[in-house]
Amino acid sequence: MLRHLEQAGIETPFDRFDAQKPHCGFGLNGTCCKNCHMGPCRITPKSPRGVCGADAHLIVARNILRWTAAGVAAHGARGREVMLALKGAADGSLDLPILGPEKVAATAKAFGIYHETKSTEAMAGEIALILLEDLCRTLPGPHRTLEATAPPERLAKWKELDILPVGAYHEVFESLHRTTTGTDGDWENIARQVLRCGLAFAWSSVVGSSIAMDCLYGLPKRSRITTNLGAITLDTVNIAVHGHSPVLVAAIVKAARRDDLIREARAAGAETIRLYGICCSGHSALAKFGDITPLANALGAELTLATGALDLWVADVQDVFPGIMDVAACFHTRVVTTSDSARLPGAEHIAFDHHHSNLDQADQLAERIVRRGITAYGERQEGKVFVPPASMEAEVGFSVENILQTFGGAEVLLDHLKSGRIRGVVNLVGCNNPKVVFEEAIVTVAEELIAHDVLLLTNGCAAFALLRMGFCLPEGLEGAGPGLNAALKPHDLPPVWHMGECLDNARASAFFRTIAVASEQALPALPLAFSSPEWSNEKGIGAALGFRLLGLNSYHCIAPPVAGSDKVARFFYEDTQQLLGGVMVVDQDPVALARRIVDDFDQRRARLGWTPAAPAALPRLMAINAQAAHDWAHAHGHDHTHDHEEGHHHE
Ligand code: SF4
Repeated sequence: MLRHLEQAGIETPFDRFDAQKPHCGFGLNGTCCKNCHMGPCRITPKSPRGVCGADAHLIVARNILRWTAAGVAAHGARGREVMLALKGAADGSLDLPILGPEKVAATAKAFGIYHETKSTEAMAGEIALILLEDLCRTLPGPHRTLEATAPPERLAKWKELDILPVGAYHEVFESLHRTTTGTDGDWENIARQVLRCGLAFAWSSVVGSSIAMDCLYGLPKRSRITTNLGAITLDTVNIAVHGHSPVLVAAIVKAARRDDLIREARAAGAETIRLYGICCSGHSALAKFGDITPLANALGAELTLATGALDLWVADVQDVFPGIMDVAACFHTRVVTTSDSARLPGAEHIAFDHHHSNLDQADQLAERIVRRGITAYGERQEGKVFVPPASMEAEVGFSVENILQTFGGAEVLLDHLKSGRIRGVVNLVGCNNPKVVFEEAIVTVAEELIAHDVLLLTNGCAAFALLRMGFCLPEGLEGAGPGLNAALKPHDLPPVWHMGECLDNARASAFFRTIAVASEQALPALPLAFSSPEWSNEKGIGAALGFRLLGLNSYHCIAPPVAGSDKVARFFYEDTQQLLGGVMVVDQDPVALARRIVDDFDQRRARLGWTPAAPAALPRLMAINAQAAHDWAHAHGHDHTHDHEEGHHHE
């Protein structure tokens, strides 16, 4: 696709990245402050303090805090929409079924509000109010979601450190307050607020939002899907959903299944209406409703648009780069924005308003949106359509609940871990960053880890690479070690379990907590970890921090902008070991990063007295797949290179 875009003269994020080089050293080190207009101030040997007297440590810490707060706001804002929808579904003001009664009951029990005489709706309403209160609390009080669901050992640790959050809104508000000119002058106090924000991120913005989604839309369902650009069909009205807000997307899924709208699509000459997922909207709808085809993450969105085969592009919030409009303008693809928070010049706006006063009109908005897609289908320019013939099947829809059902309980999984068949578990996730080769770090870390019998969970942007490259198929076990094969093959499971969108880090942390409970060990003692090799945005800071707060290490190929302060750098790379039990580990080399994870797991296993895992002795999955593709092409008399470059031009 990159070659295709280059030939067509269309700019990509990678071109824009190159045009930004060389990057500003002050930005990379975190030593630029523009919090007030006496600056911007930049720290150099000649000017070691800003106009207000802030030194490098304070400036670096403040910049990280503002990023962390932005991440809390990002996940929290879209979570709020689902919490409001859950409340509306519960009180009857929205015509929405509550599809997750088992999640409602389980959460009500955790919150201590369950009673067998209460209806699902009544409990869902109470849950929605607790989640909203934890998100927005103004009067100081306990964070109920955190206190009900966090491991007691962690809760005690966070209390001791005095980092329990009041609520997500308050911690974001307070972070902006502290970082204003002449407020908090102590970088260590700022660092403590970073940790507090991390807890608000994890337990309000992520876990709270995830609870609301599971209550409203039900738990993920296992299914087998086809992914990558070659899965785009040309005889269908093709609608892509891009972003992170599930409420309108769920209504679009419903509308796209309506007989009358399918008849309209047929009258326009199409076979039916198909939905495709970009970024997390797709993952989320896929896990809940099944029939949506995941295509690309945020960095791959413009490449996907350049297929010219998508009729409508529905954009909500977050990781929707403004650059998509320039690419869409080269094709017939219409863009519709659906949130008051995120408009794009040139796009049509069919959206929930700022007050969510039209949340009850989701079905009508979805109908209008799908009709736009049907109209745009008729405008498709066949000569501009280019769909590369690359597609891959994948297993999706893993949840803690269906995993435990598959294995017959947590004890079986624990036995695999103790025996070394599963060396450890890594939640391998995160966005992408053109500072490394697109998706290569994620794939390399994944193939190295599964070869060492490390089981992987994935979600969000990182998941696209793993879905496309065969890691989410049982056949992916060919690149895994003998232990992982022994544990997973009897259940016909892949070595990487797709858990949905980036909020589903909540699902991974719940899985980790399940293992901790079964093993009667504290989380920091266990061979469990978080990795986002190619992270780039503010939510990525919070996601990794959330797992370090659980006492687990986070592993990355991209360094955070802390090099300008040895104290702040040491805080993240070393000091939190003592404070929390987990640190940030950075190595630009993905193979070395994966080996570091393996070494750390082996040390934890030794301390636990668990059986040592076997050394890796297999070729890596990408080499196996490349050989298989070569053999297939040879057997079928194809010139593989020629096929790739010229096949599937539809002119
Ligand atoms: S807050 Fe201080 S360091 Fe930052 S721009 Fe203003 S004067 Fe400079």
